[in-house]
Amino acid sequence: MSASDAFYARLPVWAQHTALTVYGVYWHYLRFGPGFKHYVQEYKESEVFSKKQWQDLQTVQLRRLLEDCIKYVPYYRENWTEDQKRAALNGNLRALPLLEKSPLRHSPRSFLREDLHPFHPQIFFTSGSTGTPISSYYTIPELRRSIALREVRSVGWADVSFSMPRATFSGRLVEPDPQSQGPFYRYNAWEKQVYFSAFHLRPDTAHQYVEALKRHKIEWATGYAVSYYLLARFILEKNIPPPELKAIITTSEKLTSNMRSVMEQAYRCRIYEEYSTVENAIFASECEHGRLHISPDVAVVEILRPDGSSCEADEPGEVVVTTLSRTYQPLIRFRLGDVAAWDSQPCPCGREMPVIKEVLGRVEDVIVGPDGRQMVRFHGVFVNQPHILEGQIIQESLIFIRVKVVPIKGFDEQDVRDIVHRVQQRLSETVKVEVETVSEIPRTKAGKFQAVISNIKNKIE
Ligand SMILES: [Zn+2]
Repeated sequence: MSASDAFYARLPVWAQHTALTVYGVYWHYLRFGPGFKHYVQEYKESEVFSKKQWQDLQTVQLRRLLEDCIKYVPYYRENWTEDQKRAALNGNLRALPLLEKSPLRHSPRSFLREDLHPFHPQIFFTSGSTGTPISSYYTIPELRRSIALREVRSVGWADVSFSMPRATFSGRLVEPDPQSQGPFYRYNAWEKQVYFSAFHLRPDTAHQYVEALKRHKIEWATGYAVSYYLLARFILEKNIPPPELKAIITTSEKLTSNMRSVMEQAYRCRIYEEYSTVENAIFASECEHGRLHISPDVAVVEILRPDGSSCEADEPGEVVVTTLSRTYQPLIRFRLGDVAAWDSQPCPCGREMPVIKEVLGRVEDVIVGPDGRQMVRFHGVFVNQPHILEGQIIQESLIFIRVKVVPIKGFDEQDVRDIVHRVQQRLSETVKVEVETVSEIPRTKAGKFQAVISNIKNKIE
């Protein structure tokens, strides 16, 4: 916990509301200050671009970016070969190597432009993964651009605005006390924004969340898809009169069709999905026809086969991105770890921004918690389990984990309870855990034992 977090945690609730509002004034300036309105205008104007205009824009921006990378960004200057640098100067992206997450994780500053010395760069961390998080450096104008982009292409498409009262579910620890009886949110009066705690949402606390939405006359909501989905289930199960929202825009994890229909039933408003990353390395948002449009001015997006060639339309492949909107810490051919496919059908909305089909989740087998947290090495739950020969964790959905174990002498109900407890302790008590004893755990075709399997990527309900 940082010093400021520790200070915040010691404040009484009323002072936390005030602290959030004071911080909100500063934060508001950072995001909506000088330049913001201009960026909004730019994004609105480019929305009607033809396919050709988008391609031309990308060609010009990409050339400039690659030239700057060779001149000013230590990582690329030192790691690209002379041939690759020549290709970069010709704007030939395909000749450049793919970028893994590890160099960025270990040395984020070697990706910064040496010739720029921006005032007060903002640093954001990818949350949830174990090990060192990835630090993303934004200049203040880049930050304002990223919010202007959301205002136009995500929030705007849902017919709402950042100037309207809104609620957010995020990874922020707004209520530091895990045993708190409420309130489970803090209010930023400056932006009329309710920050919800994703960590206190349970069937018995759900009504307090809905009351907060009503009390502060919240008009739309954004943040963790799973949190809104869980709240929706509780609203339906407990017959809680729903809040009056105009739209919910989900972020972070995949919104499945099942989650969407439960949410529409509970909130009685339209649900929109947004696909982006903390690195702002990609941005896709849902239009009024329910299609996910990529913003070509944010990144050049490639969808690749394992051999590196480009996928055809409708063929799923790995998503690789080159950032055009973040030029202070540019990422070239960055492997996001997601799988998606280009949609061959044009969208009836008329926008010629490319459409992607649903994102099929992570390539690595990580376990995802209902709050969006992602965990690797989840088979740690089997450590110090003396009655288990082998175990396997299978994530069937965000709220259902199946555990296969090959038991040895002495295995009993207590071991089952212990496993269930360990899984729920790491994820959430709302996760259903089923422990199944088997005589053996099948290997993959290649004979590999898989300790953790995620079926989320193949199983979009
Ligand atoms: Zn559309």
